[in-house]
Amino acid sequence: MALLVLKFGGTSVADLERIRNAALHVKREVEAGHACAVVVSAMAGQTNQLVGWVEEAWGYEERQQNGEDASAHYDGREYDAVVSSGEQVTSGLLAIVLQAMGVKARSWQGWQIPLRTDSAHRAARIIGIDVEELKGRLNGGEVAVVAGFQGIAPENRISTLGRGGSDTSAVALGAALQAERCDIYTDVDGVYTTDPKIVPRAHRLDRISYEEMLEMASLGAKVLQTRSVELAMQRGVRVLVRSSFDHPGYGGQPPEHGVEGLGTLVCHEDEIVEQNVVSGIAYARDEAKVTLLKIADKPGVAAQVFGPLASANINVDMIVQNVSEDGYTDLTFTVQGSDLDRALEVLRKAQDRIGYFDLRGSTDIAKVSAIGVGMRSHAGVAAQMFSALAEKGINIEAISTSEIKISVLIDAAYAELAVRTLHSLFGLDSRERP
Ligand code: ASP
Ligand code: MG
Repeated sequence: MALLVLKFGGTSVADLERIRNAALHVKREVEAGHACAVVVSAMAGQTNQLVGWVEEAWGYEERQQNGEDASAHYDGREYDAVVSSGEQVTSGLLAIVLQAMGVKARSWQGWQIPLRTDSAHRAARIIGIDVEELKGRLNGGEVAVVAGFQGIAPENRISTLGRGGSDTSAVALGAALQAERCDIYTDVDGVYTTDPKIVPRAHRLDRISYEEMLEMASLGAKVLQTRSVELAMQRGVRVLVRSSFDHPGYGGQPPEHGVEGLGTLVCHEDEIVEQNVVSGIAYARDEAKVTLLKIADKPGVAAQVFGPLASANINVDMIVQNVSEDGYTDLTFTVQGSDLDRALEVLRKAQDRIGYFDLRGSTDIAKVSAIGVGMRSHAGVAAQMFSALAEKGINIEAISTSEIKISVLIDAAYAELAVRTLHSLFGLDSRERP
């Protein structure tokens, strides 16, 4: 008998029919003899609606239109009191549905466990989870249905963990309970080598390492909240991403199944026997490019450019600086698309100090990345990648690398071609025709 954490996302508990379907998954694991702690999200769309109400109550939009400081937010404690309620509803409903199926179950709000957090309301961090009581009940055969996304802050105020936070609730609970696995049931059946909408021959990975998953997540493959992956890596929690729409009940699945074929296991790289050099190709369209033309090529200029951006809390991702011939140089870098206007504003104000000739911003760019822990022990991956792109006539505007990732910045019009090219180049196309 194993202890499992099962987490159901918003689309998997979107209505009562889906909650019944989720309950069948739980029942199957219970009947296989496992102790089950279940973490639920709010019904899909519910949290957005609750956030909308909070903003309306505060007159948020009017305040912004009147030029009030947008950072002067409504009270985070009351925001948390409202938006945490979506999970309260689904945890109670799933407990009732389980009971109706004859499965012993009890719902748990964050404060009842208690799951303690710091006081950073709206994006609180988990400090600790008291699992004694839960453990006793789980061992006694009762399913614990835990409201995800919420906890209890100092001064006994309800807190929430940031959007998408029930993934983190599930992983944290998995760590505290020393669960065999944390199964994340969602609306996709795993993590793919790339977006199957772009490359129909993309295939599901059986396993992916924590580090690769972090790179994938930060690049836009948003299956898991990034913080949950960091936590899983730190605490060694094995996470299985699987679809709640496959095999409810027994549906042909023997109760003593392994994990192979059920989804994608996010785990330590030692657990991955057959490791490709590149595991996946990610792409992101949410960055923007900033170019400063003809700045003086002398010490201190880069600091004058990036200092004010950092003070304005604008993150810079890729940076390229050209060599100069005449004492001037061009500098190109990327920021989040949503920060572009602010970045340009900051740089305009600093024009006299920096002393550039012209300033340009563009959102017509895409970042395409090859990711794989196998790169650590393989030379020449970058060279292969650049020549394959060159053969297709794709111009590279900037490059950045880490030990397990190579990213290139290209014209947005070529994003799909680049993804397809790299997917075949690194042997990721599945053998079966889609
Ligand atoms: N319901 C919350 C959200 O929509 C938490 C979650 O679903 O993970 O962000
Ligand atoms: Mg989610």
